[in-house]
Amino acid sequence: MFHSFLIKYAEIGVKGKNRYLFEDALIRQIKYALKKLPGHYSVTKTNGRIYVACPEEYDYDDTVDALRHVFGISAFCPVVCTDDRSIEGIRAEAVKYIENNYDRKDFSFKVDTRRAYKSYPLTSMEVDAEVGEAILQAFPESHVDVHHPEEMIHVEIREQTNIYSRILKGPGGMPVGTNGKAMLLLSGGIDSPVAGYMIAKRGVILDAVYFHAPPYTSDRAKQKVIDLAEQVARFAGPIWLHIINFTDIQLYIYEKCPHDELTIIMRRYMMKIAELIAKRNKCLGLVTGESIGQVASQTMKSLYATNEVCTLPVYRPLIGFDKQEIIDRSEEIGTYETSILPYEDCCTIFVAKHPVTKPNLQIIKRSETNLSEKIDELMEAALASDELIVVGK
Ligand code: ATP
Ligand code: MG
Repeated sequence: MFHSFLIKYAEIGVKGKNRYLFEDALIRQIKYALKKLPGHYSVTKTNGRIYVACPEEYDYDDTVDALRHVFGISAFCPVVCTDDRSIEGIRAEAVKYIENNYDRKDFSFKVDTRRAYKSYPLTSMEVDAEVGEAILQAFPESHVDVHHPEEMIHVEIREQTNIYSRILKGPGGMPVGTNGKAMLLLSGGIDSPVAGYMIAKRGVILDAVYFHAPPYTSDRAKQKVIDLAEQVARFAGPIWLHIINFTDIQLYIYEKCPHDELTIIMRRYMMKIAELIAKRNKCLGLVTGESIGQVASQTMKSLYATNEVCTLPVYRPLIGFDKQEIIDRSEEIGTYETSILPYEDCCTIFVAKHPVTKPNLQIIKRSETNLSEKIDELMEAALASDELIVVGK
């Protein structure tokens, strides 16, 4: 019934040449989101507005769902188009539009007309009056309210005439590709997929790294992370997922260091390796799902100790979130069900019963000197184990 969608985006900060970058990236991301659906959608920019023209046959719900995954869209409107530009034609089409789209017609409304053709024989206000009159005649239970209408009926006269009034909420944010690239430390948990979502929402392309520890972690745990990456990629676009074998480093730390420090030392090595891969891949920052105080390894002192090994900025978009807030967000973005599948991730195998909650950096560093003999070699081997999987292509 609808022929196209008008895409709305917040224009704050999108001025001058940035505007083109923003719009071009938005168009590219919209095409990416619609690529998986059957038929050809054409995405065009005309007179400073972005339209998605749907194929002859298409699934409305699937299309709406795809557009809800495109950052940069603040809202979008399903549009009815007609080739008829005569005022009689527009009046009839507006009445048909109301008939088809509203169960109850006892609303207040206002007609808002825009003309791309300034030479159109009627002014915008005359079209408003014509269409308003047609609606009132057809639906006497409706009434006009120019100040606070419940429904704003938009009429756009272009090569075609567009009619729309429904506004669907988009995810907001900035189109992915407008703000560089970051490396997400992606585990199989609830938090890191949400953290990735939030950074991608600011226009950042994501790469990801997952540390696994076979045979202590299973193939199913790895597949779960790949699945999560796929789900994040619905929003973020294709993700290069690096899978790093972390087993020997973990075993070595386990052998050489005090067990209550294992988690912190292990996390320091994860960050170090993640940073090396990030730099090789031109990422400008790291992203984690940490939140202050959530677990022993996320107290301020622990974060201080983990952060200390990094030279790249570490973005922690969940830093002030409660667990429940993170869960709510993961349900919203569709990663929760996968995240709660019960497969071990590598941290849970080697955790001490009583991990330090206030690690002292000097003590941690001293413990790490126990690793000096083999750690460089093991880090090289870990980097060499990199298995690259591109998800969301
Ligand atoms: P998550 O739900 O994201 O797993 P968590 O509450 O389990 O988080 P931790 O296990 O302490 O917290 O991990 C903190 C962060 O470190 C994670 O959010 C993630 O960014 C990163 N991380 C943890 N384990 C791994 C792993 N095996 N591979 C990659 N990154 C990891
Ligand atoms: Mg975890």
